[in-house]
Amino acid sequence: MNYRHHYHAGNFADVVKHVLLLGLLEALGRKDTPFCYVDTHAGCGLYDLGASEAQRTLEFKTGLSRVKAAPAAGTPAWVTDYQKAVAALQAERGGFWYPGSPWLALHGMRAQDRALLMELHPEDAGTLKQHFTRLPQVAVHQRDAYEGLTALIPPKEKRGLVLIDPPYEEERDDYAPVVELLQKAHAKWPTGMYALWFPIKDYHAITRFYRRLRNTGIPRILATELNVLPPDNSLGLNGTGMVIVNPPWQFDARALTTLQWLLGVLSEHPQSSCRVQWLNGETVVVDTPPRKAR
Ligand code: SAM
Repeated sequence: MNYRHHYHAGNFADVVKHVLLLGLLEALGRKDTPFCYVDTHAGCGLYDLGASEAQRTLEFKTGLSRVKAAPAAGTPAWVTDYQKAVAALQAERGGFWYPGSPWLALHGMRAQDRALLMELHPEDAGTLKQHFTRLPQVAVHQRDAYEGLTALIPPKEKRGLVLIDPPYEEERDDYAPVVELLQKAHAKWPTGMYALWFPIKDYHAITRFYRRLRNTGIPRILATELNVLPPDNSLGLNGTGMVIVNPPWQFDARALTTLQWLLGVLSEHPQSSCRVQWLNGETVVVDTPPRKAR
């Protein structure tokens, strides 16, 4: 386990993932009945961008810094929620902090909701416990997500969201392990909402990944992509994706307008793109944007 999120916190992929996460949580919060948030790869929960790891890569400049500097007019609601959440964390702790997925989820949660956080790395699991175990509605498990998730679901609330956000150290080639995990989890809790993050590096791999997802037979899979570079660029991380099983009503259209706005802020490349599509349905919701000036 070499991956440490400290080096990548607040980069463009984190921003897009966290904005969509807030959109999903906002939909869950519309009903009074409690929900359960499950984070399979939780990381540390929050990150100090002033620390040496983040300062060495400066990856937050590709994401958080751009969203902070963007003109306010026309900012989509989920991005505004995200900006407010980042500001709230920075006010709470002082300094240059970035919220991880657990912090963002807990920030928006009501007293009746619950969170189950899994993290395998001993040091990161320790930090996560330090930050959150005093909160009564949170349980932190130092546990392998590949056995832990199916053991912990379905939650008693019967409604909720599972965020699956692996580091893609072993999963990289064909995404088979995450598809298998999603399939097993969906079999145990078919009505749960699932958000699976994935990196876009080689687009042939993404095509194979989508084929695997279609072959699971899981109905209602929405795929969202934002590529800051052409998707076949061989240099590194070209884009960020999220597959959502059982997305909320009208999430597809709202995700698209949000991604279009984010694209204008996060990339100037003429071949950058975004896309929202139903994998097992007939409708491709749409490709790329009305591009906005930065
Ligand atoms: N979800 C976090 C966020 O958005 O703030 C970031 C998570 S980071 C991309 C992936 C995390 O998964 C790392 O902290 C890593 O230690 C952890 N991890 C790696 N393999 C794992 C496994 N099999 N089960 C649980 N956690 C794992």
